[in-house]
Amino acid sequence: MTDCLFCKIIKGDIPSDKVYEDDTVYAFKDINAVAPHHYLIIPKQHIAMINDVQDGDAKTMGRLFVAAKNIAKQQGFAEEGYRTVMNCGEAAGQTVFHVHLHLLAGRDLSWPPG
Ligand code: AMP
Ligand code: ZN
Repeated sequence: MTDCLFCKIIKGDIPSDKVYEDDTVYAFKDINAVAPHHYLIIPKQHIAMINDVQDGDAKTMGRLFVAAKNIAKQQGFAEEGYRTVMNCGEAAGQTVFHVHLHLLAGRDLSWPPG
């Protein structure tokens, strides 16, 4: 999608601090980190929100979690623990409409989330 912020990041039209990339997934540091480690893991395919995920996207969506595990190992917090979050829709706080898995670590994360 031409006017999607995260599609532009994948293309390199907007700079990002990349932490991981494979054929399906791109991951980068969140510009407004809310934890010592805060990354966004996104599919290279444009999918706006969970509501739009199709049966055929199941493998792509699963790759986001494989990437999360790989990043956690690379960054050294796999054993300590981490949280993944995907917001869907405005009430959940979704502000960028290209699905993204937040990966958070490096501090105590309270439950339930706000
Ligand atoms: P959400 O509120 O779940 O839609 O998350 C969107 C996230 O994208 C927020 O945590 C923002 O800080 C982050 N974000 C927005 N623009 C950029 C950008 N240019 N580079 C990195 N992260 C961004
Ligand atoms: Zn997009």
